[in-house]
Amino acid sequence: MKKRIVVVGSLNMDIIISTNRLPQIGETILGNEVNYLPGGKGANQAVSIARLGGDVTMIGAVGQDEFGKSLLEQMENNEVNTAFIDQVEDIKTGIADIFHVNHDNCIVVVPGANFTLTPEKITPEMEQLIASADVLLTQLEIPLDTVQKVLEIASKHNVKSILNPAPAQTLPAEMLQLVDYLTPNETEFALLAEHPFNTDEELKDLMKKWQAAYDQTLIVTLGDQGSAYLQNGQLVITPTEKVEVIDTTGAGDSFNGALAISVAEEKTLPEMIAFATKVAARAVTKFGAQDGMPYAADLD
Ligand code: AMP
Repeated sequence: MKKRIVVVGSLNMDIIISTNRLPQIGETILGNEVNYLPGGKGANQAVSIARLGGDVTMIGAVGQDEFGKSLLEQMENNEVNTAFIDQVEDIKTGIADIFHVNHDNCIVVVPGANFTLTPEKITPEMEQLIASADVLLTQLEIPLDTVQKVLEIASKHNVKSILNPAPAQTLPAEMLQLVDYLTPNETEFALLAEHPFNTDEELKDLMKKWQAAYDQTLIVTLGDQGSAYLQNGQLVITPTEKVEVIDTTGAGDSFNGALAISVAEEKTLPEMIAFATKVAARAVTKFGAQDGMPYAADLD
């Protein structure tokens, strides 16, 4: 039996423009190349789960435009159930304009249809879907009230929840206390904990303080340094696998997708982290967030 996972989150078209420099206000320059790649944290995580063999349904919204059609097609090609992805009228599909300048990025995200996924759009059928799932996975590229609502639904029906608190922002305690697994990266955790950290000792102290306040599993991802969790009050850092890195876009999303499968399978925490670390290491060896996500068969 496949594990049933519901992802509530964003779908974006990433428009990646590579250019030697950024234009000044009022200036026009010629860029080098443009690529259109499906993205959005919700969609990336859903694809990660589907490729790893999960039965995944996504709740989200796109516009009735070409990007929306293309994102839906991409979800279907990846065997993500799209029945609960709304195609809204008169609003554009979310986009991320990514300017790639000499190995660095600057990004403008326009949420568009993603922000039409208000709490009222969560129907009784969607509640049923979440209630019968093994895991709910969500992020912060949709309205916060909706994140709150779906976490409340999961909690009410005893469904395990994972919140990937990205992009970085502070969050209310009423939301955080509903979450079973919280997966910030370093920046996100420093913001949530309202305290910067520089050393492992400082990270450990902050994580301990956090776990005293919230009864949940906290996993802090540390980019190419791996990820951290606490076991019996000790900081455990799991290093990444050494791979030839091509594109780290979506590393965190593949990690969260793999974690969702592992939580559904009721693995131990060290097993979950080992699996997520392996999956994320494969994802960074290919270009594109979704296209780089590994299939279960690639992992052997
Ligand atoms: P991040 O969102 O950047 O913290 O990354 C999430 C996870 O992806 C990390 O915890 C690692 O397991 C994995 N990861 C990120 N960058 C790399 C890398 N350069 N090489 C291998 N794995 C990586």
